[in-house]
Amino acid sequence: MSKGFLLVISGPSGCGKGTICKELLKRNKELVFSVSATTRKPRKGEKEGVNYFFIDNKKFEDMVKNNQFIEYAKVHTNYYGTPKKFVLDQIDEGNIVILEIDVQGALQVKKAYPEAVFIFLLPPSMDELKNRITGRGTESKEDIDIRYENAFKELKFIHEYDYFVINDDIIKALEEIESIIIAEKAKVKRHKTIIEKIIP
Ligand code: ADP
Ligand code: 5GP
Repeated sequence: MSKGFLLVISGPSGCGKGTICKELLKRNKELVFSVSATTRKPRKGEKEGVNYFFIDNKKFEDMVKNNQFIEYAKVHTNYYGTPKKFVLDQIDEGNIVILEIDVQGALQVKKAYPEAVFIFLLPPSMDELKNRITGRGTESKEDIDIRYENAFKELKFIHEYDYFVINDDIIKALEEIESIIIAEKAKVKRHKTIIEKIIP
């Protein structure tokens, strides 16, 4: 069996990462989602262990000290991190693990896991981004402003990524990401053992 790989999806707040990831997981049974730990408070409707592991600062610091994250960062005003064990186990089992993380985290993953695939999700325009963050109705005016400001900083890192996908028509965006996954799965470097069996 070939190993799985990490699929990192980043993009500014409100561009549709959460929406896209949810649909990708519904449509593709071979994908698994890495549930991050965060010190952010749950939004209405968010579930512990499904959207995030909601933890306090002390527990977050302990996890950092115990080397339990493959990456972590302060994003906007809270801490977020990717728990290590789940992700590494899933890769060993041959699964593709989606990491919906910010650019700082993506850069850490790029250093430690060069086989990972990096996709940057873009809104069709910055005005539409503002509409989406506001329309979601989950953040205060102050939080919306911080997220919108940060969007411009995050966009500067797009050149660190392998692919970009514009999330205008959601179905089109999903199909593009699925095409990227198909191509990445077929890469020779991911199938040394299978290829060696065929070509001794
Ligand atoms: P993120 O996870 O990147 O912060 P969300 O997935 O929460 O973004 O999406 C932000 C808002 O934009 C939500 O209200 C969502 O329903 C909406 N949205 C997502 N994708 C699209 C799209 N392609 N067209 C229009 N609205 C969208
Ligand atoms: P939100 O609060 O909207 O759920 O997420 C805020 C930002 O944190 C988003 O850009 C999201 O991708 C990022 N994020 C979520 N989980 C992680 C994580 O584990 N690590 C890092 N570095 N960023 C994360």
